[in-house]
Amino acid sequence: MKTMDYLLQRRRMVERLLRSGMIKSKEVERAFLKVPREEFVWQSARHLAYDDTPLPLGTTGQTISAPHMIAIMLEELDLKQGSKVLEIGAGSGYNAALMAEIVRPTEGKSSDMGYVTSVERVRELIDFARDNLARTGYSDRVSVVIGDGTLGYPERSEKMLYDRIIVTAAAPHIPVCPRAQLKVNGLILIPVGNTFAQTLVKATKYEQNKMKVQEVCGCIFVPLIGEDGFRF
Ligand code: SAH
Repeated sequence: MKTMDYLLQRRRMVERLLRSGMIKSKEVERAFLKVPREEFVWQSARHLAYDDTPLPLGTTGQTISAPHMIAIMLEELDLKQGSKVLEIGAGSGYNAALMAEIVRPTEGKSSDMGYVTSVERVRELIDFARDNLARTGYSDRVSVVIGDGTLGYPERSEKMLYDRIIVTAAAPHIPVCPRAQLKVNGLILIPVGNTFAQTLVKATKYEQNKMKVQEVCGCIFVPLIGEDGFRF
């Protein structure tokens, strides 16, 4: 398919997400229009890049989330230019690119040094996400790092804390370390439940060691596997 066709499909996807109320803000709309989803799906699924469905990432058993689910999460996350974000579960890197486009837009002044750090445990996906982000021009605003995200990303947070943490895999509970790596007034968005179905939970750290927890909606994600997640 030609680049123009993808652009048209991307615009149609955004129109659908606007009509259904999943995209609400200008920032999220702009990011979805800017980031080429076809560059982040597995080669064999490219023709399905703009269907509103999760797609398998090769044979890794992992998936890139459906656009409507990502739109819901990005709206709840309420990112600002300059926000420092930790993502747990880089997968394809698509969600990281969308967030990077909001916290530090490609066009315009970039004095606000927004940044996304994305942790991934599957080696093959780290390479995949890094390649996708480099090709699409987001490597300057996103780092994909290997690790168990249930432990957060302590190396970086020794120097700084995050404004936002997003977990894109299903957790049995909100893991402890990432909570500690969040600024006061920061928020963490995470699917919490069993391995079959979860509730998307938004937890706001309104004081040191105090979280206000709200339920957003039902959802289905692949499991968060790690020391403070599911252990298989
Ligand atoms: N945000 C991704 C989709 C992620 S799917 C995208 O936009 O494409 C969930 C990802 O979480 C998978 O890639 C899986 O390997 C990863 N994952 C699961 N447990 C993890 C853990 N403990 N630490 C880091 N990544 C994890």
